[in-house]
Amino acid sequence: MDVFKFGGASVKSAEAIQNVAFILKNHAPDRVVVVLSAMGKTTNALEEVVTAWYKNDPQCFDHLEKNKNFHLEILDQLFPGRSQRVFQKVEDRFEQVKQYLSQKPSQNFDFEYDQIVSLGEFISTLILSEYLLWQGFDCSLLDATKLIFTEPAWREGKVIWAETEKAILHAVKPVFAEAQGKKIVLTQGFLGGTENGFPTTLGREGSDYTAAIFSYVLDAEEMVLWKDVPGVLNADPKLFADTVLLPEISYREAIELTYYGATIIHPKTIKPLQNKQIPLRVRSFLQPEGAGTLIAGQSEVETQTPSFIVKENQLLVSFSPKDFSFIAEQNLSEIFAAFAQSGIRIHMMQNSAISFTACISQNDKKTEHLFELLEANFSIKYNSDLQLITIRHWTPEAIESVIGGKTVLSETRNRTTVQMVLKK
Ligand code: ASP
Ligand code: MG
Repeated sequence: MDVFKFGGASVKSAEAIQNVAFILKNHAPDRVVVVLSAMGKTTNALEEVVTAWYKNDPQCFDHLEKNKNFHLEILDQLFPGRSQRVFQKVEDRFEQVKQYLSQKPSQNFDFEYDQIVSLGEFISTLILSEYLLWQGFDCSLLDATKLIFTEPAWREGKVIWAETEKAILHAVKPVFAEAQGKKIVLTQGFLGGTENGFPTTLGREGSDYTAAIFSYVLDAEEMVLWKDVPGVLNADPKLFADTVLLPEISYREAIELTYYGATIIHPKTIKPLQNKQIPLRVRSFLQPEGAGTLIAGQSEVETQTPSFIVKENQLLVSFSPKDFSFIAEQNLSEIFAAFAQSGIRIHMMQNSAISFTACISQNDKKTEHLFELLEANFSIKYNSDLQLITIRHWTPEAIESVIGGKTVLSETRNRTTVQMVLKK
């Protein structure tokens, strides 16, 4: 049994959905769980709905209507005539949310976010399941909010594993056992649910994590992420001209790459797979015959290809104790406590005798909070609009190639990894 995950780009149009059916027909084993994201940029669109609703802006209805029409156009191209029941089902789902928006939102933004944004995955799975059934597939649609149990920590996706394992085994095993021929179990990515039946979300791009949860619980033979790139590349092809495919990497390398900011895989995905030694394959839905990248237990030879990870809009900030004391355990713990309290992640850090320097993403609200916490005891200096480039398996040539004419403001390096903060 395999678990396949299809992201938003793989179902952004009628043609794309037909391609998913093609892949399921030609590249799936007889037992497959399909985890699906919302179609195209639907999650962004629904975020706009919630934000407008909270501003008391009637445009929230326009945003919703626009997203409904996006889905209806896809339906028009997928199904001949409007006779199919799926049209009504999609209309009904949107109508429910419209009604919901006619009330005043509660105090809890994150709760309301989950109630509304979850619509995207409910709709995408509804459409794909109806299409697959119509095409003659044996497909069961399961509601992920009744299978992945989470704490009522909205938008955080804190999974309650024991309950989740029980629910998934109970729901999926018999469906596969009873089926003859190819059987597809389809469910929503990104969603969980509380004990009381409210939808929760697992964090943006969390469908990868959903697929890893199903793979773990069901002891999948393999999990496949179907993407619009040939596999894991050594750099973002939108930023680098000569990217190469990494045919095989270890779990450890995958975790390191996501830690430094590679966005190809959601950071929470690898751990459950690694625990059960389930291989993860990243393949292209545009070229499904390609082998893609295999991420597995022991890659014999660790890759030596330099990989590049770029973060834009970075801030390099230094703190120096006002009393000219050394940077040591006492003031470091004060500094780290302030970072934790203001919810800021440090991407790179360095210290000298009298200053501590960190590279962080620009976020005015959070940095203001950080500075408030520390300005009494530290003088603070910073540079903004910087670029952080991380190179795994660096070579001198690789370093040269990214610096170009830029100035290096700060750098750390060890045997495998170099990080540089650059000013254009
Ligand atoms: N639809 C959600 C998002 O765009 C989850 C996902 O695609 O993984 O963040
Ligand atoms: Mg997505």
